[in-house]
Amino acid sequence: MHQLTLAEIARGLADKSFSSEELTGALLARIKQLDPQINSFISVTEDLALGQARAADARRAAGDTGALLGAPIAHKDLFCTNGVRTSCGSKMLDNFKAPYDATVVAKLAEAGMVTLGKTNMDEFAMGSANESSHYGAVKNPWNLEHVPGGSSGGSAAAVAARLLPATTGTDTGGSIRQPAALTNLTGLKPTYGRVSRWGMIAYASSLDQGGPLARTAEDCALLLQGMAGFDAKDSTSIEEPVPDYSASLNASLQGLRIGLPKEYFGAGLDPRIADLVQASVKELEKLGAVVREISLPNMQHAIPAYYVIAPAEASSNLSRFDGVRFGYRCENPKDLTDLYKRSRGEGFGMEVQRRIMVGTYALSAGYYDAYYVKAQQIRRLIKNDFMAAFNDVDLILGPTTPNPAWKLGAKGSDPVAAYLEDVYTITANLAGLPGLSMPAGFVDGLPVGVQLLAPYFQEGRLLNVAHRYQQVTDWHTRAPNGF
Ligand code: GLN
Repeated sequence: MHQLTLAEIARGLADKSFSSEELTGALLARIKQLDPQINSFISVTEDLALGQARAADARRAAGDTGALLGAPIAHKDLFCTNGVRTSCGSKMLDNFKAPYDATVVAKLAEAGMVTLGKTNMDEFAMGSANESSHYGAVKNPWNLEHVPGGSSGGSAAAVAARLLPATTGTDTGGSIRQPAALTNLTGLKPTYGRVSRWGMIAYASSLDQGGPLARTAEDCALLLQGMAGFDAKDSTSIEEPVPDYSASLNASLQGLRIGLPKEYFGAGLDPRIADLVQASVKELEKLGAVVREISLPNMQHAIPAYYVIAPAEASSNLSRFDGVRFGYRCENPKDLTDLYKRSRGEGFGMEVQRRIMVGTYALSAGYYDAYYVKAQQIRRLIKNDFMAAFNDVDLILGPTTPNPAWKLGAKGSDPVAAYLEDVYTITANLAGLPGLSMPAGFVDGLPVGVQLLAPYFQEGRLLNVAHRYQQVTDWHTRAPNGF
């Protein structure tokens, strides 16, 4: 049963080939057996899952036919889950049981999904390798000596290893698309405001967005349908109707205008990835797409701008973890200052502390104009580049990452080397645009992803193009050895 996609599971549950309780039991056993190899789960919620599975079976027996009813899910461990530890991959929140469900968790539970657990992640979603987790690194099922990408590395590795068909992730600068690319999955970052951030522990609030990770675009469509929509509890949620994403999957690509930004194919990109991207373009041309070169001239400034804005917002968001209200508190504080200092010094890991310091510096009087304001101006220029490009094309295509998954520990001592891996993904967050990564081949046995970007709220177009591509290619069907 673990080989089934979410769509196949939905059909199997609908025609009563198996019950949700049977499926849930089989997947829980598989997680127990195989997860020790990859460390993709922080918590497995066995009792919650079996209870939800029985309830889903009862709802189906009573005539409920919801597409996600009884299907399994696991949430990145920054989605608050009522009564369940929600750690954000940090010692700071190791003892935190959320007192309520995030909107995404609540919506998928109402749709009848069964929560198998909470997935491993980079601490506070800061990272591209899932090595900064308090709970240890996640390993890439395609090669256990390599990283799975981050920060949603647990969500990606669990699906790639066929422990379950789909998971939630969040993407602040690429954390859904990049691990999807590095583990041969389809991952979608929606338009900023499409999916509620309520109950999602904040990293950088103006960039964060939740979304689905699964093997196929068809599955991402099903999951996004359950996640998306206006939420009055999130002041940046947008009141925009949610289309039927599954209904548009098969739309024709005849005449679709695809732009290839010339800046994407310069130095720094592994030439073997460039070749696979070109091969994917050929497939889309065969399906009727027309391709032209475009330019995103300010792309070179994206990494410096992002690595000012994201830490600035993080330094503010993470100030609430003070050792007083919730989370980790140091032993025997001498006085209040000692309590703050040691609780934060002991509770946060190195990368989180580095970002808090960078962010605090960038926001401080005297440096604010030189760094934060400049970064915001660059952000506007990047958005303007996209707006100009989307006057001429319907979709932008390129690599998701410049390199395939690197070896565990390879970039550990050099944070900037890891930051550079985000070059293709962070612009979508700075502009608020939707983006999708889909499997497009292999280099040295490691998966490679192609990224599609679309105008605001055109998630349906991304899923449509990826689905049509997946009908004529089989990269997404390949499974890692041993899983
Ligand atoms: N790698 C990026 C960072 O470390 C993006 C992380 C994310 O999207 N959560 O900030």
